[in-house]
Amino acid sequence: MIPTTLDLTADPDGIARAADLLRQGLLVAFATETVYGLGGDARNGEAVAEIYEAKGRPSFNPLIAHVASVEAARRFVDWSDHAETLANAFWPGPLTLVLPLRDGHGISPLVTAGLETLAVRVPVHQTARDLLAAFDGPVAAPSANPSGQISPTTADHVRAGLGGRISAILDDGPCGVGLESTIVGLAGEPTLLRPGGIALEDIETALNTRLHLHQVGDHLTAPGQLQSHYAPDAPVRLNAVLKQGEEVLLGFGPVDCDLNLSESGNLIEAAANLFAALHSLNETGRPIAVSPIPDHELGAAINDRLRRAAAPRDS
Ligand code: AMP
Ligand code: MG
Repeated sequence: MIPTTLDLTADPDGIARAADLLRQGLLVAFATETVYGLGGDARNGEAVAEIYEAKGRPSFNPLIAHVASVEAARRFVDWSDHAETLANAFWPGPLTLVLPLRDGHGISPLVTAGLETLAVRVPVHQTARDLLAAFDGPVAAPSANPSGQISPTTADHVRAGLGGRISAILDDGPCGVGLESTIVGLAGEPTLLRPGGIALEDIETALNTRLHLHQVGDHLTAPGQLQSHYAPDAPVRLNAVLKQGEEVLLGFGPVDCDLNLSESGNLIEAAANLFAALHSLNETGRPIAVSPIPDHELGAAINDRLRRAAAPRDS
């Protein structure tokens, strides 16, 4: 638990402090041109798990990685001509590009919710840019509000919602528009995944092509889609105390198992390990049994993902 949430001012000292906290794997809320973001080191699984924990999110949805520059973005994704065109036209700014993860990217699978693509953005807000430059790494940052509540456009909103749950708030007054970033998928045909601060027409003009239209929300909340995206090939059996037959056991707490999400029964650690563990057990080609996981705090999001993995398949 974090007893107090530091109030940092958006001056060089405050920005250096904030970058330092991020380096320690702690969470910092900061102003962007859209809304206040809740930032954590996107390479640090436990930091990303803490984001979900602080927001009380009931499920893992992929997060946007914020970076300081095009060069920084290119370290994590396979760049393309379309990406170059859109970055030249609209970065820094409220445009998010979804691109295939690059080999050796180092991004926690909790950021992408196990997908092979990463959403990246270079924000234009000066404080956000200064923080990203000082931190010199990718920062996963959803809106800095408790899950289900209104997005925060002032530091007071953040404090009211998350005070005592995060390490610091980098206060830089009210955010501009409060509009979310436009999200364009570039892993296949250029696709509008979410409308936002940059107009569809302007993106089409820049690319000189029409975008496919696809709502991120529809996609990620349609259960069929989620299963085909996230489910391992092998059957998954939940609340397993003992292995049966050929099963490999994904453990939680002090149990005898093939792979343990957290021997000490720590839900943050378990969340940070979840996607990598499912991937590696899937590679064994054997059915997967999973120990019971408490259904409170991050356990609820872990169980949500596991239930999807265990649900009957579409095909
Ligand atoms: P927010 O952080 O609230 O602006 O939301 C981030 C949005 O980006 C969510 O709607 C995510 O579903 C979407 N998103 C993040 N990463 C990906 C990805 N790899 N593929 C598709 N959508 C993504
Ligand atoms: Mg939000």
